[in-house]
Amino acid sequence: MTLKSLHKRHNELANANRQLEILSNGIFQNGDLPKFKDKIAETSQYPLRPNKIEILQINVGYMCNQVCAHCHVDAGPDRQEIMTKETMQQCIDVIKTTSAHTLDLTGGAPEMNPNFRWFVEEASKAGVKDFIVRSNLTIIRANKKYHDLPEFFKKHNIHVVSSMPHWTKGKTDKQRGEGVFDKSIKALQDLNAVGYGMPNSDLRLDLVYNPTGAFLPGDQISMEMEFKKALLEDFDIHFHNLFAITNLPISRFLDYLIASENYEDYMYSLVEAYNQSAVKNVMCTNTISVSWDGWLYDCDFNQMLELKVNSKVKHISEYNEDLLQNRDIVISQHCYGCTAGAGSSCQGTVA
Ligand code: SF4
Ligand code: SF4
Repeated sequence: MTLKSLHKRHNELANANRQLEILSNGIFQNGDLPKFKDKIAETSQYPLRPNKIEILQINVGYMCNQVCAHCHVDAGPDRQEIMTKETMQQCIDVIKTTSAHTLDLTGGAPEMNPNFRWFVEEASKAGVKDFIVRSNLTIIRANKKYHDLPEFFKKHNIHVVSSMPHWTKGKTDKQRGEGVFDKSIKALQDLNAVGYGMPNSDLRLDLVYNPTGAFLPGDQISMEMEFKKALLEDFDIHFHNLFAITNLPISRFLDYLIASENYEDYMYSLVEAYNQSAVKNVMCTNTISVSWDGWLYDCDFNQMLELKVNSKVKHISEYNEDLLQNRDIVISQHCYGCTAGAGSSCQGTVA
């Protein structure tokens, strides 16, 4: 179990350029595997272009109460990067005018930003159709001051999307840390108690599964059935949908792949599972990602690799949807994680 972020450990992979070098060298440089750019060019999908911007995903900070082994954000209690109220206000100004129908708040643990509740209240007033908060669940049980989050989410009709890598304690705690499973179960019961995830309830509660090792996720529909059966039988827990997400080879998951000598095999499996029909719906085709300091990215993964949008407009303070709509998406070999099998995005499969 990793106890500190790569940044805190001064690990070389805390440096985005180093990650990008690894993703471009070796098997991709010597031609054993095709670069993502060349792969999508085979079907005339290069340069990758956005469809319509539908989702504004805002990362309000990298601080988290957990230090999960696979985290692509390299989040943890030792990360201090937190969105200020001023940047939040710039986001609110955009939320008021954007044609995006979905607002997606993420982190770290977004609830740990001291201005999180203010931001949710203001964004709620601005009006969005689907208002998502990505909650790691354990934060609800981490401290008394968070115990009322289910009620707070309910008050603002938040769509809660929560990570839950497995329905067993062993696999969950292995990936996310000792005690995470028990706290997550309690948090799910708390959410159910106010109506989240219940059959026919409008209070949406979805779970996110991602593999606990160097392998691709199984079929999303069968996994959802297994999760539903197990969580209901063992803990009387209800939820709506399960999203199966592929781990992208960046940050702590890249560190894990290299340390366990699985990096090359994993890249081979991603490339072998490449699905050209997933390309047109990858997340960056309908999403703009905003970092804690207001910079704009094609997705949360590019944010962590510090690959800003290829547009004249690069910061939330100068947001211009027409210009952003008309850009080429920045890609590299990590993008194979979004096009393997049934594809992968923050909303699960895409193909
Ligand atoms: S809960 Fe999420 S953000 Fe926090 S360390 Fe785990 S994967 Fe990263
Ligand atoms: S990693 Fe980001 S830029 Fe690459 S395909 Fe996935 S969503 Fe698009």
